[in-house]
Amino acid sequence: MSTPPQILDALVIGAGPAGIGTALALAAVEGLTFGVIERGQIGQTFLDWPTEQTFLTPSFTGNGFGATDLNAVHPETSPAFSLGVDYQTGGQYAKYLRSVVKHFGVPVLDGTEATAVTAREDGFEVQCARGPVLARSLVWAGGEFHQPLEPRVAGTGLADLARAPEAWEPRTGRALVMGGYESGLDIACHHVERGAHVTVVDGSTPWDAGTGSDPSFRLAPRSRVRLSAALETGRLTLIGAHAGSIKRDGDEFVVRLDDGNRIRIDSRPIAATGYGPGLGPVEGLFAQRADGWPDLDKDDQSTLASGLFLSGPAIRHGGLKFCFIYKFRQRFAHIARIIGERAGKDVGALEAWRAAGMLTDDLSCCGVECAC
Ligand SMILES: Cc1cc2nc3c(=O)[nH]c(=O)nc-3n(C[C@H](O)[C@H](O)[C@H](O)COP(=O)(O)OP(=O)(O)OC[C@H]3O[C@@H](n4cnc5c(N)ncnc54)[C@H](O)[C@@H]3O)c2cc1C
Repeated sequence: MSTPPQILDALVIGAGPAGIGTALALAAVEGLTFGVIERGQIGQTFLDWPTEQTFLTPSFTGNGFGATDLNAVHPETSPAFSLGVDYQTGGQYAKYLRSVVKHFGVPVLDGTEATAVTAREDGFEVQCARGPVLARSLVWAGGEFHQPLEPRVAGTGLADLARAPEAWEPRTGRALVMGGYESGLDIACHHVERGAHVTVVDGSTPWDAGTGSDPSFRLAPRSRVRLSAALETGRLTLIGAHAGSIKRDGDEFVVRLDDGNRIRIDSRPIAATGYGPGLGPVEGLFAQRADGWPDLDKDDQSTLASGLFLSGPAIRHGGLKFCFIYKFRQRFAHIARIIGERAGKDVGALEAWRAAGMLTDDLSCCGVECAC
């Protein structure tokens, strides 16, 4: 990691799977100067996951046959191999990321938050507590976990966010979860499995989404198995309505739904209502799409600031969502190639990512439907 007046070819902000994965692809381009800064520790988001939470996407070491472990960030690695676990906890996955960083010698400066970013003629100036860093290209890989979206209901302050450890603490009696997609059903099943009676409310009934092969739009198999087991207990109720307001009534809470019904529960409702793009200090350097997600060109670059790339689950192209690791890792080598070519380097080594099924340049091929 260099400091001014030297200007790096690339700086990556964030040491989660997106930041580490992109840095590993940059490292394959010989002669590039680059570094990663991280405000916490490597894999901080996974260290912050509630301890009960595990991955939805299974790990399996299919690497030798061209089916690279779904949660790997480098073609020659596999969390299933190094951890011996298929559905990792956050702590386990952070350990995998640390081992990858160590093995490949990725230059990561932890405890270093990017607090402000300015676009300059020759690149970007990033402010952090250790002083400014200059880079010709910048990769934002800050993730979205730090920007949970609160439900738009009166009394939202009475709810616990699903990302908070207190939402996972045992709940006796009647509980309620707002949001019925992966995170909501995950925490609802968690409480049903421990004996609570749980109601999940969501007007868009995501548990019914049954068409299309894209896991970004239908529940993961693991979630469907857990959902059906939870329904069989008779302690899980799914309601196709949104919460409208939350009120406290003595020791109880009353949630009014937009269909006029009221539900009385024994503990604070849980909000599992999604995440925003979490752009932090680069927010002003991205234009927004109509749906609020960052507007990107075909190379995952800001349409406002050339040289500023986005890596991670906030990538959207048309109707395609890149919200799983196996999806957004398709762009690590693509971004590294653009940066490498601009710096006049040989980018041939990145073809190894394509051979491992970890590089997609042509996004028109991603919408395939499975026949059965
Ligand atoms: C609850 C939940 C469950 C999920 N389960 C799965 C799953 O099973 N499988 C899957 O493939 N995906 C899953 N995802 C998708 C998830 O988004 C990714 O797995 C992953 O966390 C995204 O990686 P990332 O590197 O973009 O972000 P993160 O892992 O969040 O990493 C971002 C890093 O950037 C750092 N950072 C942020 N701002 C700054 C700053 N200003 N300066 C310096 N550093 C900064 C953070 O500290 C953090 O370490 C899940 C997501 C959530 C929220």
